[in-house]
Amino acid sequence: MPRVLYGKGVIAGVAIGQIMIVGQALDEYLEDYSKGSAEEEKAKVEPAVALVTEAIEKSVADLNAQGMEEQAAIMEAHAMLVQDPMFIEAMLSKAEEMGNAPAAVLEAAKETAALFEMMDDDYMRERAADIRDIGKRVAKAILGVKDPELGDKKVILCGHEIEPSVIANIPTESIAGVILGQGSTTCHAVIIAKARAIPTVVGLGDGIDKIPDDAYTAIDGEAGEIIINPADDVLAGLEEKIRIQKEQEVRYASLKDLPAVTKDGVSVHLAANIGLPEDAKAAAAYGNEGVGLFRSEFVFMGREDIPNEEDQFKYYKEAIEACNGKLCVIRTMDIGGDKPLAYLEIPHEDNPFLGFRAVRISLQRKDLFLPQLKAILRAGVYGKAAIMVPMVINAAEIKQIKAMVAEAMAELDSEGKEYSKDVQVGIMIETPAAAVMTPLLAKYVDFFSIGTNDLVQYTLAVDRVNHNVSYLYNHFNPAVLHLINTTIKAANDNGIWAGMCGEMASDPYAAVILTAMGIDELSMSAPSIPKVKEKIRSINISDAKKYLAEILAMDDGDEIREYLHRVIDEK
Ligand code: PEP
Ligand code: MG
Repeated sequence: MPRVLYGKGVIAGVAIGQIMIVGQALDEYLEDYSKGSAEEEKAKVEPAVALVTEAIEKSVADLNAQGMEEQAAIMEAHAMLVQDPMFIEAMLSKAEEMGNAPAAVLEAAKETAALFEMMDDDYMRERAADIRDIGKRVAKAILGVKDPELGDKKVILCGHEIEPSVIANIPTESIAGVILGQGSTTCHAVIIAKARAIPTVVGLGDGIDKIPDDAYTAIDGEAGEIIINPADDVLAGLEEKIRIQKEQEVRYASLKDLPAVTKDGVSVHLAANIGLPEDAKAAAAYGNEGVGLFRSEFVFMGREDIPNEEDQFKYYKEAIEACNGKLCVIRTMDIGGDKPLAYLEIPHEDNPFLGFRAVRISLQRKDLFLPQLKAILRAGVYGKAAIMVPMVINAAEIKQIKAMVAEAMAELDSEGKEYSKDVQVGIMIETPAAAVMTPLLAKYVDFFSIGTNDLVQYTLAVDRVNHNVSYLYNHFNPAVLHLINTTIKAANDNGIWAGMCGEMASDPYAAVILTAMGIDELSMSAPSIPKVKEKIRSINISDAKKYLAEILAMDDGDEIREYLHRVIDEK
């Protein structure tokens, strides 16, 4: 019987293979283990460490030989950790104390990992998994447990947490996909999977235990879908998707360093939308030109308290640096709506999307907004930064925002902290009120970035997260298109730049029309960049302008979509 589970898709692509549950517990082996005297047990530790070191060094050499430097570096760090004198000492004294070498090694690794888990830094916390991984490898060496033979099977690795060494030591061609119970994207298993472009779904929690070992399974690393025992027709569809995906990968890779420019020379900046700084680093693989939307609310989420100026500064600096001199647009926190934040204790609202949200919170909570502005201004020293404010509806809000920016600068001056005076200040155009008023609002800001996810919902009165009305949610709806056209024209007429960071920017057919309207920048999740770039590079602006004139005279969003697909594909 087919069964479908959902997690969070973190590395796009469709994969089909047999589930291989990894990270198996060693309990059974430990139960059967016949231990010797305390001295004998202690004596088993160092030879096992030597065996593991040798195996790690071999994989470092293999990975380097295959040009996988990033993974080789991770394994090199493991080699250093396993030989760390303090760690070895901890294993030896535990072995003596417990009189059971494998159990002692696991315990020593657990205790050392706990120290890492207490650290403030996310990256260091993730290293706890590396220590546990190493401890387990040493224990397995003592117990004589071998890793399963893969033969020529294509597997989907599946586990609550997968040890980096497991992925690093399986040849890329044998891993079809990865499914993880934990939800982190900074664990090394995900970093390695990303470097190898292995479709990956994370965040299943205990749902991972429902996936049977060996089950024939398909995963969609974009949608976060896991189909166990897919039916034949579903499988045929997925196989066709994989074939197309392979062809596309080759084409897309060749586009990475090319500009997004039409055949007749009109260029558009293609930037990445990110949630955390590491996304900016990962975006480089897709040839992004900076970041058009850093959703800073993610810095505020998943924690118990408000991040202070210093905490935020570190995140913004990291993202700005990852942009290598290209613009990094940091959106001030967009809390509320579908992104509530428990510790802000906002009272219940019947219509949260129309309520106390985004800039409305920022302007009333100076204690939150000023530290954020100061952190962005300070981080701006490390590259090129912009402040972008969400959900603006009128000029009065912009004036207040600018006054706050000036206040943040004055505070930084009096504190003697270094900051950038060249940080641009722009607004998101995601309310119909702002879009209609762009010819006037343009005078107050450095740029507009159109947030179609909200602009569509507010223009059409269609809740963006309500499936019952999703058939009405269409970014080609003429009312939306006219607002977008007004916005881009207002920017062009007033000498400021216009971008788009809503999902519409990742629709290649929309990109053609937006280019014709005169948009300067399109920002999207990085994996969408190649497909948009390919489309822009395939068109002439004169044709695109003809399509634009046609659709601006049409009155039905579905017809506009069909028309664009037809005429653009025919070309
Ligand atoms: C948007 O509304 O288009 C946007 C980019 O912001 P968010 O999706 O975070 O609301
Ligand atoms: Mg929005």
